[in-house]
Amino acid sequence: MIQIFLLIALLHLTACNQPETSAAFMSATALAGDEPLDQELEAELSEAALQDTVVKTEVEWRRQLTPEQYYVLRQEGTEPPFKNKYNSNKKKGTYYCGACGNPLFSSATKFESGTGWPSFYAPIARKQIKAVEDRSFPGEVRTEVECARCGSHIGHVFEDGPKPTGLRYCLNSAALDFREKK
Ligand SMILES: [Zn+2]
Repeated sequence: MIQIFLLIALLHLTACNQPETSAAFMSATALAGDEPLDQELEAELSEAALQDTVVKTEVEWRRQLTPEQYYVLRQEGTEPPFKNKYNSNKKKGTYYCGACGNPLFSSATKFESGTGWPSFYAPIARKQIKAVEDRSFPGEVRTEVECARCGSHIGHVFEDGPKPTGLRYCLNSAALDFREKK
């Protein structure tokens, strides 16, 4: 019960500190996170919740990741549209953080956006990701999506997605690690 109160308080606090778009994003994804998950994914999420936040130095990340992964995950880079691994991937399975292995998105919420990047309308659960205000693009405020466990950059979220959330998580394949569910 205390946890629920804390969550509500936290959501409220975050919503107050964010621009209007992010407040809408918070409420919509909180709903999306309530969707039923299959047992295997549920177990993975419980396991992920027990693991601590991953903190590494940039030297360690550089050693662990390929130059392409490092550019996207740690330098907030964007890979080219269409010429990436998962844009047209229609297989069933889970997309994990390419840096720390945190389960982030499921093929169940993937949709064809036509943008050239893998697109989803919701994360597996809201707590798996972090939304951060991004002002790096002149004259535009965007919402960046980070992995909640290691803080790596995964992509952005926009409010022109399909139902039921109306959100479009525009992600980089290079930031993800897909494992097929047979
Ligand atoms: Zn991560």
